[in-house]
Amino acid sequence: MNYIVLDLEWNQCPAGKAGENASLRFEIIEIGAVRLDETLSPTDSFREVVKPQVYHSLHHRTKEVIALRAIDFENARNFPDVAKDFISWCGKDALFCTWGPADLTELQKNLAYYNIPSPFPFPLLYYDIQKIFSIVYEDRKSRRSLESAVDFLGIPKSIPFHSALSDAHYTSLIMQRLTPGQIAANSSVDYYRTPENRRQEIHLSYETYTKFVSRPFKDKTHAMKDRIVISTPCCQCRKAAQKRIRWFPVGGNNYFCLAHCEEHGYLKGKIRLRHRGDDLCYAIKTIKTISPEEAYEIREKKEVLKLKRRLRRKFNDSKTP
Ligand SMILES: [Zn+2]
Repeated sequence: MNYIVLDLEWNQCPAGKAGENASLRFEIIEIGAVRLDETLSPTDSFREVVKPQVYHSLHHRTKEVIALRAIDFENARNFPDVAKDFISWCGKDALFCTWGPADLTELQKNLAYYNIPSPFPFPLLYYDIQKIFSIVYEDRKSRRSLESAVDFLGIPKSIPFHSALSDAHYTSLIMQRLTPGQIAANSSVDYYRTPENRRQEIHLSYETYTKFVSRPFKDKTHAMKDRIVISTPCCQCRKAAQKRIRWFPVGGNNYFCLAHCEEHGYLKGKIRLRHRGDDLCYAIKTIKTISPEEAYEIREKKEVLKLKRRLRRKFNDSKTP
């Protein structure tokens, strides 16, 4: 088993959304990766610049990021050649690690654009080191930039940031301040490909919560009627927990609920509904154990939302003659 610590640099349409190629918003222009063995020691690295085929000049943001380096796009190879070499360099039993959740999704979008078969299993689980850094060193929720995490850990900054290989290198140094156990316990799901049917639905369990990713639905009304989507099995014992507050919307596409397991206490359910590329949507549900105080906060949140709704209705009623 090897860890492949991946970082990509990509470019987008320099003219903004109007000139964008709808099937490839972000074009990969550099792939960098470090391979680590199971003890997190580096064994090899990969770096190659990719010759742009879709956007022939650089977006100002891309320019800002890579301005410090002279990149020879002229003598670079095309994405399909670089990607094939990269995939075979990764090997068969690779565990992918990235800083943030974007790189593997963009890599798969670029592979699909060139009709290159995806080398990834389904579901694709990976390690988001930015998230794991927050879980281990901070509050689980905040997300630091790579450089600020490097500063936090006092890692010497011997090479400049923002080249694909240097960022993969710094990410691997941060991984060395984690244990393989901390990494293994905190996998993420890549959402580029989501379940197509009930059989493919994803059920994952972590130390303090469970995660479920659903099949597609026509819209959120259909999703929020599905018995598996709205079920609240306890994240510790899997027994059906009794709902104390049914699912209620908390703005946009998020829902909360409060449930109670006789053995494990209060549980907070959260559903996020996300759009897929095809007009359908899917649900990501997490269930975690919470304290009675946190349970109280959910009750309070629901009451506040109810009150706001009532006030809004009153206000609208008063406007109609
Ligand atoms: Zn339980």
